[in-house]
Order: sequence, then C-alpha cells, then structure tokens
Amino acid sequence: MANMNQKIILITGASSGIGYTTAMALSRQGHKVYAAARRVEKMGVLHQQGVQIIKLDLTIENSIEEAVATILDKENRIDVLINNAGYGYFGAIENVDMEEARRQLEVNVFGLARLCQLILPIMRKQGSGRIINVSSVAGKSVLYFGGWYHVSKYAVEAFSDALRMEMKPFGIDVVLIEPGGIKTEWGIIAAKHLAESSKQTPYEQSGLHMAGSLDKVYRMDILSKPEIVTKAICKAVNTKHPHVRYCIGFASKTILFFHHLLPARWWDALMRTLFGKIKL
Ligand code: NDP
Repeated sequence: MANMNQKIILITGASSGIGYTTAMALSRQGHKVYAAARRVEKMGVLHQQGVQIIKLDLTIENSIEEAVATILDKENRIDVLINNAGYGYFGAIENVDMEEARRQLEVNVFGLARLCQLILPIMRKQGSGRIINVSSVAGKSVLYFGGWYHVSKYAVEAFSDALRMEMKPFGIDVVLIEPGGIKTEWGIIAAKHLAESSKQTPYEQSGLHMAGSLDKVYRMDILSKPEIVTKAICKAVNTKHPHVRYCIGFASKTILFFHHLLPARWWDALMRTLFGKIKL
C-alpha cells in the first residue's frame, strides 16, 4: 500500500508478542519497518510481508551498533525507534543472581538507552523523530517477587521523562507505552524465572505458588491481546501530536488507581494475598 507519510521504523523485540503484531501492523500501513530480535527464525512471516529482519541482541554492543548501521546504510534516516524488547526476571531479591539482575537491566534499560544514543544524532540532523519506549504499569507499581523487573521499568519511566525534556528543542517526541496484562510469552518467561530462582530457598513455597499463578493467567484468555498495545503504538507513530503516555490493556488503569489510592502497606498486603496465597 502506498503511504505518502511512510516512515522508516526500527522496532525491537519483534520476534513475538507486542513487537510482532506491531511490526506487522505498521508494515501493512505502508511504513518501512525494520524488525529486530535474537530469534530471527520466528520472523519468516514478517519477512514475507515486506518487513526487514535484523538480528539483534541487546546485551551485545556490536550487535546494537550493527543494527543501526544496517538501517542507515540502506535508508540514511530513521524516523521512529520503538524500544519494545524486554522480559521479566522474577524472583526474590535475595535469590536473584547479580548477573541475572544485570542482564535484566542490560536488555530492558541499557540496550534501550544505547539505541537512543545511537539514533538521536540522526534524528537531530533530520530535525524530527520519535522515540517510543514500551514501559509498563510495572513502571509505576510493584508486584510480589517482581523486584528487578520493576527496577528496570521504573528506570525506563525516568529515562523517558528526562529524554523528553532534552529532546523538546530538537523536535523529537518521546512517548511511553504503559500496558497492563497482555497475553504474550512474557508471563510464561517471568514465571519460569521465578520458579527456577525460588527452588530450595526460603521463598520456595510462595515463589512456586506465584509462578504457578502467573503461568496459568498468561495461558488463559482473560488478559488483553497484544493488538490493543499495537493500536496505541500505531497511534503514537502516526499522529501529529502524540500523548506523553498511553496506558492500555487489562487492569492497567485499575492497578494504577488502587496503587495511588492505597497506603503502601495495604498495597503490599493486597499483592501478597493475590499472588502469594489465592489459588488461581
Ligand atoms: P514477549 O516475550 O512476547 O516478547 C519479548 C521480546 O523481547 C521478544 O521478541 C524477544 O526476542 C525480545 N528480547 C528479549 N531479550 C532480548 C535481547 N537480549 N535482545 C533483543 N531482544 C530481546 O513479550 P511482550 O511482547 O509482552 O513484551 C514486549 C514489551 O512489553 C516488553 O518490554 C515487556 O516488558 C512489555 N510489557 C509486557 C506486558 C505483558 O503483560 N505481556 C505488560 C507490560 C509491559 P528474542 O527472544 O527473539 O530476542
């Protein structure tokens, strides 16, 4: 489809979930989409639809630099960067290896930050551009056993707020996407990490209980579909004046409302009861 407003877009985390459906949707709208992830073998259908596939591991500096260089060689510009890649290393703070904690931040925060650093000079020269960071309601409220994941998403919130102020004079927009529960591989992966880090520790019983609940919820159909987030991201890409934040998906607004309303210890008790005790 010809699109007079075609944009050159890089989206990370496009091998599954939100990134996959968003890469597909943006390509169908006529944008030129570069979709990045480690598991390029999962992106064959995207490629058939005209999406350009890039192998990217956000924990490796060379991989990040090469991804950006590949796009610049072909296009000489990048209009939109969608930092979507991310995962949750769930587990009690006491249990999670510092190496795993560092990897969590490497992917969810430093990889995202490095891509911004490499792409911002290009956008500044263009006099325009848009950075869309996929954060979460987990960037504003904390679930039981989600410590390092929440550290990473709170960091994405602060990073994006700082960047938005800095980019204002250069005509570059910075947007935050804050999904609630979305049915993707995310919850299954977080549950797996929680189970493996809890075994044979004082947190085994509650950790395995929550891992079981998390896994179950993410296999049921009560959560929102990734397409809901895709719709918000597409809006943020295509509209002239994007919102600063798009808070969407299962329970997102309810979570933030109660988090704001409840005293901290009530919130703690609610989380411990919901995820540590109630059998789903
Ligand atoms: P998925 O697990 O389906 O997708 C995560 C993506 O991140 C995959 O494409 C994966 O690709 C990529 N990724 C993971 N590690 C790396 C790495 N080292 N280098 C490059 N890419 C990597 O989950 P979602 O689609 O749900 O997640 C997308 C974003 O949405 C994440 O930032 C997540 O935190 C956020 N989010 C998700 C929610 C949910 O309930 N699902 C709620 C709120 C926010 P590969 O493994 O092939 O590299």
